[in-house]
Amino acid sequence: MTATVLDGQVLARRIQAELTPRVAEFSRQTGIRPCLAAVLVGEDAGSEVYVRNKRNACERCGLEGQLHRLPATTSLEPLLVLVEQLNRDPRVHGILVQLPLPVGLDAMRVLHAVSPFKDVDGFHPENVGRLVQGAPRFVPCTPQAVLEILKRHELPVAGQHAVILGRSEIVGKPLANLLMQRGLDATVTVCHSRTRDLAELTRQADLLIAAIGHPQFVQAAMVKPGAVVIDVGINRTPAGLVGDVDYEAVRQVARAITPVPKGVGPLTVTMLLANTLRAAQLANPR
Ligand code: NDP
Repeated sequence: MTATVLDGQVLARRIQAELTPRVAEFSRQTGIRPCLAAVLVGEDAGSEVYVRNKRNACERCGLEGQLHRLPATTSLEPLLVLVEQLNRDPRVHGILVQLPLPVGLDAMRVLHAVSPFKDVDGFHPENVGRLVQGAPRFVPCTPQAVLEILKRHELPVAGQHAVILGRSEIVGKPLANLLMQRGLDATVTVCHSRTRDLAELTRQADLLIAAIGHPQFVQAAMVKPGAVVIDVGINRTPAGLVGDVDYEAVRQVARAITPVPKGVGPLTVTMLLANTLRAAQLANPR
């Protein structure tokens, strides 16, 4: 079996093409251009690329993309002051604090300072709580990207055994919560660095999602033939960007697989735009 390739870039273009007229219609009716403000602290090369991609995607879809920079040497106080300014600015609808922050800055303090109504990443405790209770305001972008890939390719979720590698606040935990909710109805197993007999569990997965940050960790022998494999990992190696899955080997076994790059990444950016439009709509109900 050779797997169907779930091309995230093609899907992202399609969803952005759907989003663009929705943004235009909102702007026409309200006179407001949805605006995403990105906060970038320091000069991390990866973060620079991510923020540039997000701003470019904003422009393509008719949203405004602002960039607010602070030096790597900044202390917590000016960063919190900037976030508060953006919270109060009625022209800003979504706020994105690009992670990772330089060592010494408490990321949780900063993320919790973002208004829950502008928290388009869905990291604020109020939004996390709403998601766990099944009434999300903003679904975090990477988990939402994974669900969108499954939905748009009509891949089954209900009743499937989903095994997630990774329990981060950003990917693993929210994705597990979403997949187990009524309506999606997967049976979810979450694995982490202390999980015993990991390959035993991954081999039981109908849907295997890797989000651990270890290049090509998932080998073909860890995958049930016919499984759907979603690779969230992005790892910079001397050979270029690779995922958490050994793509060439696993695609011989899986039914469908996302590549890296051009898999989950472009969809994550697209979901950020969708959340920003949603934030603007919530702030300006018609
Ligand atoms: P974190 O480092 O926050 O979390 C990694 C998780 O993987 C932890 O729960 C950790 O376990 C677990 N883990 C680490 N090693 C193993 C192992 N050997 N076996 C099982 N579990 C393991 O990472 P993120 O969730 O932020 O990101 C994960 C990957 O996804 C990264 O490559 C990141 O770059 C990528 N990413 C991609 C995005 C996209 O848009 N495509 C967006 C966000 C992230 P423990 O909790 O025990 O430490």
